[in-house]
Amino acid sequence: MNNQFSYWEKTSFFDFDIIIVGSGIVGLNASIHLKTSSPKLKIAIIESGFLPSGASTKNAGFACFGSISELIEQESICGTDALAELIEKRWKGLQKLRGILGDDIIDYKQLCGFELFKPDDKILSTDCVVKIEHYNKLIQPIIGSEAFKVNNGKIKAFGFNGVESIIENRYEAQVDTGKMMFALIQYAQQLGISIFNSCEVEEISTDENRPFVKTRQGDFRTNKVIVTTNAFVNKLIPGLDVIPGRGQVLVTKPIKNLKIAGTFHYDKGYYYFRNINDRILLGGGRNIDFKTEETTELGLTAKVQDALHNLLKDVILPNSDFEIDYQWSGIMAFGKNLSPIITETTSNVFCAVRCNGMGVAMGSQTGADVADLVLKS
Ligand SMILES: Cc1cc2nc3c(=O)[nH]c(=O)nc-3n(C[C@H](O)[C@H](O)[C@H](O)COP(=O)(O)OP(=O)(O)OC[C@H]3O[C@@H](n4cnc5c(N)ncnc54)[C@H](O)[C@@H]3O)c2cc1C
Repeated sequence: MNNQFSYWEKTSFFDFDIIIVGSGIVGLNASIHLKTSSPKLKIAIIESGFLPSGASTKNAGFACFGSISELIEQESICGTDALAELIEKRWKGLQKLRGILGDDIIDYKQLCGFELFKPDDKILSTDCVVKIEHYNKLIQPIIGSEAFKVNNGKIKAFGFNGVESIIENRYEAQVDTGKMMFALIQYAQQLGISIFNSCEVEEISTDENRPFVKTRQGDFRTNKVIVTTNAFVNKLIPGLDVIPGRGQVLVTKPIKNLKIAGTFHYDKGYYYFRNINDRILLGGGRNIDFKTEETTELGLTAKVQDALHNLLKDVILPNSDFEIDYQWSGIMAFGKNLSPIITETTSNVFCAVRCNGMGVAMGSQTGADVADLVLKS
């Protein structure tokens, strides 16, 4: 296959200063940061999918920095100082994304976030309410204001069934994921970054300190590679602490007089839903079948889809008829450590992966951080 390329093709299309593997939110942001910092760099992104095919075009579009129950769990893993750093990364990442693309382009809407508690969640909800003051103090220096408060009046306003209390986060927002990714791709292309789709990287090798990137379409030469393949990273760089987690999602058909607006966390964040215009997007349920969902394969299962359907019927839309219009899945990357892995793994081969299911918030900063590491190297 290689030999069929012309001299012109081989010298102009297969040789770059920097190659980024993966065109998710992290890869695109890395390329944008590199090109805006150093406009002469010749940069390519190589993507296995016809569209980006990991998490970035499949997510729920929550622009969030953590619900109280998530923050409690995360603080128990990493401690208070590291949690404050994480919240700052999420918050700054969101401001960066908004700064690059603009709120109108990505439909950024600060409709507030709401964590819902069932009557069975009494102990958890009491713990969360007690911690409101603590987390408000923690985020005050980052955001400049308090975010969380109890707002049970919303239960009736939203028309939920089987919800006993609600904690509101007034700084949580939503974006249109499709518009965000479309705009990021367009911006990268406007800057002169080449994007090759339907081109899977099979291997990265180094020859005389210069990496080459092997694909079925041919071998690319480059000075530096950045791998941003997230949950799929172990195929190219084995041994990293990255565990895949599939997220299944559904979207209803438009619902007349939909009362629900905002982003919602239910059952310790294992379920999440939001309005997207006059529809409901609902995802989650990995916790009922962790082992099956620990996969890099896209797919839907009856077990999770039934759980999502029942939640819609019993809790979210108890008084409305609804039909499901879309169902899909996407793959996230998790690990024991809650921070992304941003490092040089071997000479001139870098990676930026594992946004732990919060890449809408962290992806822009993570991309910029790995780009800075490459520029300094
Ligand atoms: C269902 C779901 C809901 C989510 N909801 C939210 C949310 O509401 N808010 C939030 O902040 N985060 C959310 N996330 C997480 C967020 O989407 C991710 O953290 C983020 O998109 C990760 O971006 P990334 O660029 O690191 O990886 P990805 O978007 O996964 O990009 C990796 C890319 O690499 C490509 N690739 C893989 N292997 C190769 C290869 N060998 N060669 C070439 N290309 C390759 C893939 O096709 C993919 O496009 C959600 C994720 C899912 C799945």
